[in-house]
Amino acid sequence: MVRSSRPNSASSDEHSRIRVVVRVRPPIQEDYDHSFEAYEECVNVIPHTGDNPSKFLTLTRSHTDERDFMFDLVLGSDIQQSSMYGVVAEDIVNDVLQGFNGTVMAYGQTGTGKTHTIFGDIGNFQGINASGRVDSVSAKAGVIPRAVQQIFDHIEQNQEETEFQVTLSYTQLYKENIYDLLDEDRSGKILHLRESSRTGVYVDGLTALAVTSGTHLLDIVSVASKRRVMAGTSMNQLSSRSHVIMFITVEQRPKQTDPMAPDPVRRGVLAIVDLAGSERVSKTMSEGSRLDEAKKINQSLSALGNCVAALSSGSGHVPLRDSKLTRLLTDSLGGNTKTVICATVGPAECNYDETYSTLLFASRCMNVRTHATINEV
Ligand code: ADP
Repeated sequence: MVRSSRPNSASSDEHSRIRVVVRVRPPIQEDYDHSFEAYEECVNVIPHTGDNPSKFLTLTRSHTDERDFMFDLVLGSDIQQSSMYGVVAEDIVNDVLQGFNGTVMAYGQTGTGKTHTIFGDIGNFQGINASGRVDSVSAKAGVIPRAVQQIFDHIEQNQEETEFQVTLSYTQLYKENIYDLLDEDRSGKILHLRESSRTGVYVDGLTALAVTSGTHLLDIVSVASKRRVMAGTSMNQLSSRSHVIMFITVEQRPKQTDPMAPDPVRRGVLAIVDLAGSERVSKTMSEGSRLDEAKKINQSLSALGNCVAALSSGSGHVPLRDSKLTRLLTDSLGGNTKTVICATVGPAECNYDETYSTLLFASRCMNVRTHATINEV
């Protein structure tokens, strides 16, 4: 699997930056259970005016100490999955279908809705037409099933004049080791990152599976996702202990009637990233191997935070090499990619510190510039 970071320049978007959407989830039982005394909320989404979506929220502690934040969008707890998809990922997927690279990344404390946003109800696509197109997904479907639906809808509508090839790669970064989630024999083989001047950073030996339909892709993802390392922590009954990144590559070539005409191939790579929880080790009350996991998660997310801080302040050195996560995300962080970050937060005041830290990270991301270019290969 290769992500092209040194494409030929066909058309470029020189002046864009990472888009940041904050999503606030509704209160859940854990919020009441973890509240020290009475349950209090610390996040207040400032209502939008007219048809404009909200961009502002305030964070308060003990009804005082108010901090204001502005993002590209703030999604309140009443926002349904279909509306979330429309504002978080739809444009990026359109860009990928034009030949740009795109990244959709969820960042936040455990239990705040990263997996809900990225996966949601993935295995429950209801209507499937004869060609394997996903006709309708469940109301709870997240970014992945909806993106797959959008991609294969586009293919079905354009297949007379264009030839498409879609490939899927799916990787897990657990304790700073990279694994292939499409590896059927579950050998647990550790893969390594390589870098070349032509292709940039890539995972050597990562499976790139050709998929023939939306349902084919989602079936594979449903099975492969069960290989992700999950565990119970004090934050959540079942939380993701690894970062996962899915790459959906869409390659397209016009069907030529003139054999002498040039045959340009465009390749857009969609990276969908579900990061492990960003809470501090002390918050998970982990021990033994769980503690080791938590430390590794913290290390890689600190490295991510440091890179974003360096990129947003414009400081010369960006420490992308400090972790495998940041090396893997080199393009998504200010490189040849259109990136949207969905920062998820819970409403409860007992998680004030984690929420504040997520919002600070998200604010810094707003200043990270990217320079996506259509990939002609
Ligand atoms: P994370 O991946 O950040 O650890 P999850 O996605 O597992 O968190 O969410 C924790 C719980 O909260 C799940 O039960 C999930 O269904 C619920 N949840 C998260 N976000 C929302 C939302 N926007 N609306 C309704 N329920 C949500």
